[in-house]
This record gives sequence, structure tokens and C-alpha cells, in this order.
Amino acid sequence: MPENRFDLVIIGAGAAGLASAIYGVRAGLKTVVLEGRGVGGQAGEAAEIENYPGFPRINGMELVMKFREHAEEYTRILEGKDVVSIEPVERIEGVHFRARDSDDGKYLVGAVLLSTGAKHRRLGVKGEAELSGKGVSYCATCDGFFFKDKKVFLIGGGNTALMDAVYLKEIGVDVTIVHRRNEFRGAKVYQKKVREMGIPVIWDSVVKEIKGERLLESILLKNVRTGEITEHQASGVFAAIGVVPNNKLALELGCEIDKHGFVKTDRKQRTNIPYVYAAGDVTGGLQQIVVATGEGAVAAMTAFEDLIHPYWAE
Ligand code: NAP
Repeated sequence: MPENRFDLVIIGAGAAGLASAIYGVRAGLKTVVLEGRGVGGQAGEAAEIENYPGFPRINGMELVMKFREHAEEYTRILEGKDVVSIEPVERIEGVHFRARDSDDGKYLVGAVLLSTGAKHRRLGVKGEAELSGKGVSYCATCDGFFFKDKKVFLIGGGNTALMDAVYLKEIGVDVTIVHRRNEFRGAKVYQKKVREMGIPVIWDSVVKEIKGERLLESILLKNVRTGEITEHQASGVFAAIGVVPNNKLALELGCEIDKHGFVKTDRKQRTNIPYVYAAGDVTGGLQQIVVATGEGAVAAMTAFEDLIHPYWAE
């Protein structure tokens, strides 16, 4: 097979993409993994993972590096290669798409796995964009260290928010959670930790504005029940208010998405476009590493089946 020709191109090297690479190559598919941002995806940002079977407690980056080493036993992972376009190809036996990366590398491929993950949702308030990286952060494990002994607000009430708050507290950050409702969405086990560690919570409140000249200085919070607005001095704001899928390539390919932008798949990870599969956080659902790896494995095996005998040809 020519050098730039592959049975399967995996776009994104998070948990789903790396697992898929292992299954794809073992099944006999010539596979390449392209990753624009750096291996690991969102899983790599978790300070501590306690629910991936076989690892009662492991740092997120440590776990994805194990995935990476394992995947590299089978295939190359091309980092710094953002896929900038992907389009259908006709009349070349076994080739259904042509992809181009950010270094103008070209790939002719039989099947595409979109394991492009998701990115942090923005608060969408005044001052956020200007002070991003100057006090506003979306990754506690990446930036928490810079806020030791400083006052920060952690926005959100899901699993990420609670885990991040616990992590920040543990490394000596003066953290307060701000949540828009009066109960958390995150798991009871994390709620218990937050309570036990005495992390203060401001309930029923949202961020109205983030203020600061060169660096973040204060935030305005609005109580959604009373309408009252209060100003709080702070050095940092960590937003952990969920994710939005990286669905640009999916949309370009014509994949159906749901109302939140997640790529729709069937139980075998097929999208509505023949030879295009999706796995991991870009598909929404239960966003867990164990699910992403499982979906990645299923996607690779389905691509393998379809490349031999497409089920839609029956
Ligand atoms: P999430 O579960 O969607 O929670 C987002 C939180 O942010 C919710 O509490 C939500 O409030 C709040 N929120 C959303 N938009 C907001 C806004 N504009 N302003 C203020 N607050 C806002 O997101 P996540 O915590 O990032 O988790 C993403 C997925 O990964 C979930 O499926 C989660 O279970 C999973 N995850 C699992 C683990 C684990 O099991 N260990 C760890 C991390 C993440 P409401 O509650 O009012 O909607």
C-alpha cells in the first residue's frame, strides 16, 4: 500500500482514539493516528481517576501515557497534525476519503474515526476572553499550582467542578465553589469530599463579569433567586461548566449531530455517513474514559467489518 494510504485514519489521540488504534492495527488495518493538540484529551487533565477498572487511583496524564505507550507498540501517532479538511473520494479502490493536515500532509483513507473529543465550555461573560490565561482557567490540574495560597472561585456543580475543587484545596489553593443551583449534579462521593474538606459553596449564583486590568482582580456574582450582585476579590476563576464537542470535521463530512452538537452514532459507532465512525466525548452520552475506550474499540472493529463487507451493501 502506498505510504500515504491507510485503511483507517483516527483523528484525535484521547482515550477513544488510542484504544481504537490498538484494535484497528491488531485487526489488520493499516492505521494512522493524527493529533493536533497533544495526546491525552480531557482524560489527561484529570488530577485523579478513581473509576477506571484496574487502577483504583491514578493521575489522568499517567493513565493516558500508558494508553499512548500501548498504542505506539502498534502504530505511529502523528502529533501537531490538525486535520484541516476531509472530503469524499470516488473511483479509487478501497479509498473513500482524502484528508489534509495542517502541515499539508495528504492521506488517502478507507475509513475515518472521529475521536475529536470535546472542549471546555466558556462562561460567556464580560472580561472572560481578555483575562483568559491571566486568572481565568479551564484546567485546574494544569494551572492550579500558580494559585497556591490565593483566592479563587471554581464555577460549576458537576463531577469536574467537584473534583477540581478538591484538587485545588489539596494543593493549598483558597477555593470557593460557585454553583447556579442549590444542589450539585456531581457524584455523591465527590460531594462528600467537598463537605469533609470544608470547601465553601456559594449557591444559586452565576458569574456576571470578570474584572481586572492586567490580571484578574475580582468577579461579580449574581444571585439568581434574589437578583443581588456582589463583588468578590479574587486571583483566579476556574470554569468547570461542562464541555462542547469538537464537531467541525463531523459537520464538514455531513454527519448528523444532536441538539447539543454531539455526533450521532449507532451501537456500532457508525455515523450516518458510510465509513465514518465516531467514538468518545464527541458522541456525548456517559463521558467516561472506560466508555471512550470501549467505543474506540467498537469503532475500529466496525470499520474493519465494513471495509471487508459493508453492511449497507446488503
Ligand atoms: P457537567 O456534568 O455537564 O456539569 C456542568 C456543570 O456546570 C453543571 O453543574 C451545570 O449546572 C453547570 N453549568 C453549565 N453551564 C453553566 C453556566 N453557563 N454557568 C454556570 N454553571 C453552568 O460537566 P462536567 O462536570 O465537565 O462533566 C462532563 C462529563 O464528564 C459528565 O458526563 C461527567 O459525569 C463526566 N465526568 C465524570 C467524572 C468521573 O466520573 N470521575 C469526572 C469528570 C467528568 P447544572 O447542574 O445546573 O446543570
